[in-house]
Amino acid sequence: MGRAFVFVILGGGVAAGYAAHEFVKRGVSHGELCIISEEPVAPYERPALSKGYLLPEDPARLPAFHCCVGSNEERLTPKWYKENGIELVLGTRVKSADVRRKTLLTATGETITYKILIVATGARVGVKYAYNLPSPDPTCGIIVGILLFVENLKGTAHPGSASVNKALKLEEFGVSGSDAESVCYLRDLADANRLVNVMQSSGGGNAVVIGGGYIGMECAASLVIGKINVTMVFPEAHCMARLFTPKIASFYEEFYRSKGVKFVKGTVLTSFDFDSNDKMTAVNLRDGTKLPADMVIVGIGIRPNTSLFEGQLTLEKGGIKVNGQMQSSNSSVYAVGDVATFPVKIFGETRRLEHVDSARKSARHAVAAIMEPEKTTEFDYLPFFYSRVFTLSWQFYGDNTGDVVHFGDFLGNSFGAYWVNKGHVVGSFLEGGTKEEYAAIAKITRLKPAIEDLSDLETQGLGFALTL
Ligand code: FAD
Repeated sequence: MGRAFVFVILGGGVAAGYAAHEFVKRGVSHGELCIISEEPVAPYERPALSKGYLLPEDPARLPAFHCCVGSNEERLTPKWYKENGIELVLGTRVKSADVRRKTLLTATGETITYKILIVATGARVGVKYAYNLPSPDPTCGIIVGILLFVENLKGTAHPGSASVNKALKLEEFGVSGSDAESVCYLRDLADANRLVNVMQSSGGGNAVVIGGGYIGMECAASLVIGKINVTMVFPEAHCMARLFTPKIASFYEEFYRSKGVKFVKGTVLTSFDFDSNDKMTAVNLRDGTKLPADMVIVGIGIRPNTSLFEGQLTLEKGGIKVNGQMQSSNSSVYAVGDVATFPVKIFGETRRLEHVDSARKSARHAVAAIMEPEKTTEFDYLPFFYSRVFTLSWQFYGDNTGDVVHFGDFLGNSFGAYWVNKGHVVGSFLEGGTKEEYAAIAKITRLKPAIEDLSDLETQGLGFALTL
């Protein structure tokens, strides 16, 4: 059994939705395009899962956050795909790919052939064995302590020798009980539904959030709003350690404390306690602390889904290596979103980013390159990441390297920072900005203006970006 399409998008997440939208804008014909997704629903805006989806009152539910509402465009419901002649093959995992024959084999036994394939398989929860890799993403929450913890347990992970594709969830670390119902991860809708159920049955109880990256921070906020007591545990000295400076982190940690969140830093989880009914009662940490726990959320990083293409396409920095047209080492295969390692022109190096904006824009760019190659220049992307928690909201553009210059009012929830490297602004962060202010910091990060005097930049603060 088999079907043939001109274009196939493998994966049905954020990048797939935006790619489909771009195909339609550029006049794809009915019957030419197919999306194959393991998930049972049409592509949706994944960031909603750790924000509106977890709220106790009036939670976000599909179809409200199908792509492309995240960029204030039309909402691509299943009806939209039907009306545009796009085949959605949902609830279907592709189990093997042959890029030479241009075929995909699904777990249901169907062979789907393509002329052009866009790989948009994203990532799954797991720990990155990233000691010896440049870190492309300042916010992804790689937990070095967990790696050390794995080392201790299994004696396998050594800096410089670890395999990129080795680790998965906590189960694999041999932590007894880590596959319990009350241990939650968060990557897809099924995870989110499970988490909501566990949250509901833990109302008024205790949650331990493992990991101080954005998943941990956003989930902790939702748990507190849902009246669950939260302790965050992570091995670093402060939250969002790969992006935030200690000063920025201390603002958010104070804010979280004011909402009742506790922090235990510099240590990692080692085991769980259960009662005689197999209900979780506590987690144990390496520093000897025992924390009461009815549930645990683990947010310790992700692994890109490259395995179908290992040995067939060139991989780099954990992802599928593509050029400025998002084209892989096989000219019929493109890769976009979390799974792609692409040239970030502004920094003159390749990176794999795990941000929704990058997924959206790389997907659109790939489709432009496929449909109108002669008119499509190299992808020129400015890294952008954001988060929203409680009443707070921040945006970050560029790179967090070099000297940091903080500005604004850290008591009044309106502050930011510039990163200045080799005499030029390379990164900007802003909490509580307006649309115009965010646009201004994005603009100066792209312009990379020269800075002669850091203290002058500090004095000018946001005004520097607004007046440039
Ligand atoms: P995904 O959206 O992960 O989609 C991959 C798809 O491929 C999935 O549908 C998967 O089931 C499917 N798939 C994989 N393998 C196969 C296979 N073999 N066969 C069939 N289907 C397959 N980024 C931000 O910038 N800001 C945020 O606030 C933010 N919040 C987030 C909150 C959560 C809870 C999560 C999980 C991520 C968040 N992100 C955020 C990151 C952002 O969502 C990702 O960067 C984005 O989803 C990547 O898009 P993608 O299409 O590459 O991958």
